[in-house]
Amino acid sequence: MYQKESGWKAADSALKTRIYDFAEGYKTFLDAAKTERAAVAESVRLAKAQGFVDAETKDSFKPGDKVYFVNRHKNVLLAVIGEEPVEAGIHFVIAHIDCPRVDIKQNPAYCDSGLALLKTHYYGGIKKYQWTAIPLALYGVVLTKDGKRIEVSIGDKEGDPVFCITDLLPHLATEQMQKKATEIVAGEALNILVGSLPAEDCEKDAEKEALLALLGERYGISEEDFLSAELEAVPAYNARDLGFDRGMIAAYGQDDRVCAYTGLQAIFDLENPAKTAVCVLTDKEEIGSMGNTGMRSAFFEYAIAVLLEKTTGQYHELMLKRTFRNSKCLSADVAAGFDPTYPETHDKLNATFMGRGVAITKYTGSRGKGGTSDANAEFLFDVRRCFDAEEVFWQCGEMGKVDFGGGGTIAQYVANLDMEVVDCGVPLLSMHAPMEVASKLDVYMAYRAYKAFFETFGK
Ligand code: MN
Ligand code: MN
Repeated sequence: MYQKESGWKAADSALKTRIYDFAEGYKTFLDAAKTERAAVAESVRLAKAQGFVDAETKDSFKPGDKVYFVNRHKNVLLAVIGEEPVEAGIHFVIAHIDCPRVDIKQNPAYCDSGLALLKTHYYGGIKKYQWTAIPLALYGVVLTKDGKRIEVSIGDKEGDPVFCITDLLPHLATEQMQKKATEIVAGEALNILVGSLPAEDCEKDAEKEALLALLGERYGISEEDFLSAELEAVPAYNARDLGFDRGMIAAYGQDDRVCAYTGLQAIFDLENPAKTAVCVLTDKEEIGSMGNTGMRSAFFEYAIAVLLEKTTGQYHELMLKRTFRNSKCLSADVAAGFDPTYPETHDKLNATFMGRGVAITKYTGSRGKGGTSDANAEFLFDVRRCFDAEEVFWQCGEMGKVDFGGGGTIAQYVANLDMEVVDCGVPLLSMHAPMEVASKLDVYMAYRAYKAFFETFGK
């Protein structure tokens, strides 16, 4: 009989220590990587410390070289050049570093009834009501008229103020509470409260005037500069241990920075691999992987083309096509952990459970596997054999019950390039909420899985 049970039962004390130690680095990463831009900066900082260099600064690559490509501050591709030619195929681990959040609009500032607020447009699949009445931090970049670039980060540092989206008091919410959950908080009601002091000698819009004066004085930002700015509101709290036993982590942004961090750690461990290893931390997954920083962008193919050209001194299209055809990929994205409070949404035989290890999801999609890449049995078998040989704790499961909803990942776009690919990541509870939950055991096993994939897959 094929037994499925908690990985904690099988973990000896030495393994438990490794699991808990690994989680400390992960929490630090989450706190430093609240947005995709911050995640890129932190990943590059960590990569440089591991000997990775900017790929564009080198004329040629040789086996063992560690290089990275940054694309428009929002996604990054790291490679360790293998002993075999790149054309023999690459082992990819691809995670995303964008997360659901609330973006500031281009004409955001207004005041009403003595309060200064910012208009927003949410990003990704959120339950809007979850984003009210929690502390928010503001991150992003503002390019000012006088040519300055201002990196904004307010709300997470000790002593910083925070911001918030207000909600209606229950006493006056009789009508609101009758609404469908999708309408309880309207999209246009996600207004962020940012100030309350009026400007002196100001008849009209005094709080907005005061806000703009403050932004001008402190940061050199004018109202017009919002037009080209990119500002994101994210939860203003750090990652914490969850539970009396501290076996889980509660934090914002674990979908999918959990797979980003574990993928990074796995590629950092590599020395002189046989096959070239590539870890991609992509952007825009939560809105369909479009745009020039998402997985459907030609940037991905560009970077692989550069790997080919700088390892061989030549390039033609067939080399790139052969490379993809010979490549294997783990689409490193989170899974929906079984939640005992909502058992009706899962088929228990085919769910992924917290603490049972990294989750392999053969296919995602919805309504009869619509919009997915369904991994091939032969590839799945090779992954299974690799994980078993390396004593990775892993499990197999679907996102939820058939016809209960669904979702997609980057796997389909990778598959379209003619690669073998399967989804493989950490099960979460409360996915896409401002605070998501992961098991430390599963986080560690994701790292072990990606490491095994880079080091011994196909051997
Ligand atoms: Mn995801
Ligand atoms: Mn997601």
